[in-house]
Amino acid sequence: MSAMLAIDGGSPVRTTMLRYGAQSIDDVDRKAVENILLGDWLTTGPAVAEFENALCGFSGAKHAVAVNTGTAALHASCNAAHVSAGSEVIVPAISFVASANCAIYQGARPIFADLEPDTLNIDPADVERKITDKTKAIVAVDFAGHPCEHGRLLEISKQYNIPIVHDAAHSLGATYKGRPVGAFYNFTNLSFHPVKHITTGEGGAILTNDSEIAQRLKSFRHHGIDLDLHSRGERNSWEYDVITLGYNYRIPDINCALGTSQLRKQPGWLAARRAIAATYNEAFADLPLLDCPTEREQCQSAWHLYVVRLNLEVVSVPKETIFVALRAENIGVNVHYIPIPWLSYYKKLGYQPGQWPVAEGQYERLLSLPMYPTMTPQDISDTIKAVNKVWKAYRR
Ligand SMILES: *Cc1c(COP(=O)(O)O)cnc(C)c1O
Repeated sequence: MSAMLAIDGGSPVRTTMLRYGAQSIDDVDRKAVENILLGDWLTTGPAVAEFENALCGFSGAKHAVAVNTGTAALHASCNAAHVSAGSEVIVPAISFVASANCAIYQGARPIFADLEPDTLNIDPADVERKITDKTKAIVAVDFAGHPCEHGRLLEISKQYNIPIVHDAAHSLGATYKGRPVGAFYNFTNLSFHPVKHITTGEGGAILTNDSEIAQRLKSFRHHGIDLDLHSRGERNSWEYDVITLGYNYRIPDINCALGTSQLRKQPGWLAARRAIAATYNEAFADLPLLDCPTEREQCQSAWHLYVVRLNLEVVSVPKETIFVALRAENIGVNVHYIPIPWLSYYKKLGYQPGQWPVAEGQYERLLSLPMYPTMTPQDISDTIKAVNKVWKAYRR
């Protein structure tokens, strides 16, 4: 006899909801923010450059430009990559919607590419098939924290002279062939939303190795103002000039001080995420209900998410029932993500389901289990227990 599921009136595995992802803020973080609040600069002050320098140190990138969201970073990258009206941007069919919206902000049309079945990252072969003379950028998302096939993508980028807009919102601290993910593109985009690796409340950054691109990005986040003239005239002139259309995408010093403090903890947090993934992998190795995520050779995932694939043929219920049953056990599972071309706005733009066999087929099986570095051993074992409980109740 299996234990009665909470969804059927049994008692849940735990009494409080375990979230799928969560930030961690300590007294050092609080102190760092407080210092800014008591100082002279709430925005556009020295804490911004300090955070940018810390990001360069962590990632190996030459320049970092911090902005107020990850989405603003992607928009700025598309702008600096000369994505323009009438052009096309190749985007993976599964990601957070911001990965595609950024192309539309610039008047371009996202062209969705299918995924590699093991990592669910953009498939370089499908990218190549979809390149036309209108293609102005390729968005590469390190899904769940696992690096894309960046070696192949870099070759494609060189061969066709198309920049890669690298969406590394999930992969701060991941490595590809021993190199950290921030080190090898001109547009690597980070997000500091609370569910991501480190948080600034809201925030984002672009990492780049090109100083001219860094200047363009800085002007874009500050209304398109000519920053050279600005710094020359700062002390004794009112003169300023706007050289291009920009936005206010500035990030406050308050947020940046939190980011610098958080970043110091990221090496330890990455190790904690790896250890949680290893515990899950071991616990679920022989479980017919699901397939665990894989890590390719020469790649280290940053384990932003732990995404399993359900084997729905071995259970008597659909994915929705498993999802709701786990939530009833107080395990905050989630699904990352609905294919972007399936979303209403995208359907209105003319995209039709059925063109991305891997993404759309695998989407039906996706389920994210709780994963964040400050999960306790009890949180981890509750998750494992709940998955086993649901499996025993619904196995065929
Ligand atoms: C979170 C996320 C973004 C957007 O970041 P925000 O900081 O929330 O604007 C973009 N792409 C991916 C893949 C994300 O997960």
